[in-house]
Amino acid sequence: MATFHSKIQEVKTKADILQVAQFLNIKLDRANKGLCPFHREKTPSFSISPKKQIYKCFGCGEAGDSVALASKVLDVNSYEAAKQINDALHLGIDFGTKINRWAVTQYKQKVKAREEFEKWENETFILLCSYLHFLEDNDEHYEVEEIRYYLDEVFLYGSTEDKLNFWKHNRGVVKRASERFNK
Ligand SMILES: [Zn+2]
Repeated sequence: MATFHSKIQEVKTKADILQVAQFLNIKLDRANKGLCPFHREKTPSFSISPKKQIYKCFGCGEAGDSVALASKVLDVNSYEAAKQINDALHLGIDFGTKINRWAVTQYKQKVKAREEFEKWENETFILLCSYLHFLEDNDEHYEVEEIRYYLDEVFLYGSTEDKLNFWKHNRGVVKRASERFNK
């Protein structure tokens, strides 16, 4: 995406790779050499060129610019790496965080709602199964058909909408079943 790309470019232009290395806890000596963050070594073969704004490791061959460095060390994509550099170095580039955060919140709420629904679905299914066995054992046939219907038509073969309808209109059944088991 064009905007994504331009934000990353902006970070690359504004951020000093030495500061990025510092943010990433990469220790460098005065010659800007240090132990490579990408491979195990005892003598430094990793170095940064402030002039070219790139890093290079002569041990493992890793090389790139400031965003690539952050992306690799933090194990995130370039956009996320650029965003984190922007925050850490206070570059002041507008990443539209408000909109992003709102989208993340929306997404999280959706996931949470789905998880809660699935939890309810599982619990209710198990409860109704146990209730069905209980009714059969006690020869309470008047309710067996009804419970069997819910289990088959709603929980086993029903759509999400069927389940939501059950949740809205058949709370009495669930309440009755759970009351008999919680005694
Ligand atoms: Zn290396």
